[in-house]
Amino acid sequence: MESSVQSESRTTERAHRSSNGQHVDRLSAIRHEMEYINTIGKRFVAAFDRFQVHRALLAALQEIYNFSACCILLKGDPFELFIIPSYPLSTAFLEGMIQRIANAANVIDFPHVDAEQLARTAYLDAPDELARPRGEKEIAGTEIGSCLNIPLTVENRIIGLLSLFDERPGSFDTNLLQLTTMIADYAAVALENVRLRERETALWRQAEFERQRLELILRSMAEGLLITDARGTVTSLNQSARLLFSQVGIDFKLPTPLYQLAETNNAPWVSRLVEIIGQAQRSKTVTNQEVMIGIDDETVPLTLSISAAPLHDANSIPNRPIGVVAVINDVTSNKQIERLKDEFVSVVSHELRTPLTAIKGYTQHLVRRIERRLRKLRGPQPESNQPAEAAPEPPESYDLRSLNIIQSQTEHLERLVNDLLDLSQVQWGHLDLHYESFYLADELADSVRSVQASTEQHTITLEVQARDTKILADRARIAQVVGNILDNAVKYSPHGGLIKVCLEQHDEEFQINVIDEGIGVSPEYYDHIFERFYRVHNTAIRQYSGIGLGLYVAKAIVDRHGGRIWFTNNQNIGTTFSFTLPGRPRTGPLAKA
Ligand code: ADP
Repeated sequence: MESSVQSESRTTERAHRSSNGQHVDRLSAIRHEMEYINTIGKRFVAAFDRFQVHRALLAALQEIYNFSACCILLKGDPFELFIIPSYPLSTAFLEGMIQRIANAANVIDFPHVDAEQLARTAYLDAPDELARPRGEKEIAGTEIGSCLNIPLTVENRIIGLLSLFDERPGSFDTNLLQLTTMIADYAAVALENVRLRERETALWRQAEFERQRLELILRSMAEGLLITDARGTVTSLNQSARLLFSQVGIDFKLPTPLYQLAETNNAPWVSRLVEIIGQAQRSKTVTNQEVMIGIDDETVPLTLSISAAPLHDANSIPNRPIGVVAVINDVTSNKQIERLKDEFVSVVSHELRTPLTAIKGYTQHLVRRIERRLRKLRGPQPESNQPAEAAPEPPESYDLRSLNIIQSQTEHLERLVNDLLDLSQVQWGHLDLHYESFYLADELADSVRSVQASTEQHTITLEVQARDTKILADRARIAQVVGNILDNAVKYSPHGGLIKVCLEQHDEEFQINVIDEGIGVSPEYYDHIFERFYRVHNTAIRQYSGIGLGLYVAKAIVDRHGGRIWFTNNQNIGTTFSFTLPGRPRTGPLAKA
């Protein structure tokens, strides 16, 4: 009994020892497997580019299989195929592999793969350190003996295919399939990481390239560029802007809030700059605002033309720009040229005025003499209402008509010269007015008479719809405005017709309308017609003489009087030019007089 117990306990002990031994073996196998997996994992994690991933993959696989080549096919446009041979392979073997890879890819979830196309783009990744001398028993064949295909997946998404090929049959043990799939998964994740990193690097490189290009453009721009953030702090200035500001003693240290600049510098141009930027901060685009930065006694001060626009990005709230970009141009030399041109025009106009005054004076003298002679020739007028017998017209009456035309044309020429003389005054805001009290209706009648004398084709009428037309204004200037508008009405009505001048009174202001039956003005020119030297550009206009100053000066005079000027196209034909004039100045010392 005892012995049986003893022998039983010995048997149990043996059994226990043997099961313990198995257990130890299993444990050491697991430890070994885990160490292996750990080493592989580390290699994949350390791999920085796709070739390092290939090496890590090859090293891991070579520990469990003997094979001739390992291939990686990656999805993409185009596909990428990497062939990593264990030793040099024959062309037939390579072709066979590519054909089999194409077949395998077409079986799994892959867009169609063409073997010929793969062959053209295949990349042979055979680094020296991978080359393994072929074992003596290894067959140098052209045939593929065995093959193993495993999809490369990341988060259940197939990103490629891993294929192993060997010249000998049965090289790939199916028991190791699970381990091989795990290695393939590691490789897939590592390859995807490399792909993401490459894409990120490419994007960074592209962004950096764009940044450098932009910087180069900004640096080489002749225009000054100033960029602020949403709060109006200057964050960036290009070289030209720095140069412009340094001319007026401002050395920007970035970032500088604009309000700080305004606090330390009370020059009017600084507050103007702050105002322009402020408008852009409120989402308004401002263009070509002239800002003079000059010492007062300079003939032409440093003049900048500033345009500013709000900066919006895709995420910014509407009307809340993320900053402002301002372009600054030095237009001083343009101003200099303009000033010279104006001076030239002014000198020439002065020179023209002297002979004109003489012509006008002598014509007037002749007109009066001929009128006197005609009165003498005709004798006293019969008192009765009976019509006198028609006497032949004396030659003096023809002379008088001719002289009237000379007189009217001289007045037209005088208006042109006056417009030219006024140009620089208007331009630099020095248009002076000499107020006097007169009857507007009388002045209009004089202008109508004068212009009527220059044309037989047109009939000019005056209609006064006002009781008291007494006005306090610059008489000569108002005559200039009416004369310019009437000259145009005649000039741009080439087929003659009726020209009506209407004087209306609305409360404290007068409105003068000049209605013609001429060629009309297309509404698209509305914004420009009152600009300096502006003439409507259509071919027809070429037949009309003019210099594009009449309306510019007329507008300046009307504006200075505190009135408005505009035009409308008549429904049937022609144009109506209108302007208003207050009965007396609205501001200044004469306003209450
Ligand atoms: P100018 O007559 O010397 O060209 P203005 O400043 O007087 O210059 O007029 C500017 C332009 O306005 C003219 O060139 C013409 O095209 C247009 N314009 C002015 N008045 C009339 C009008 N009554 N009818 C048609 N077009 C006119």
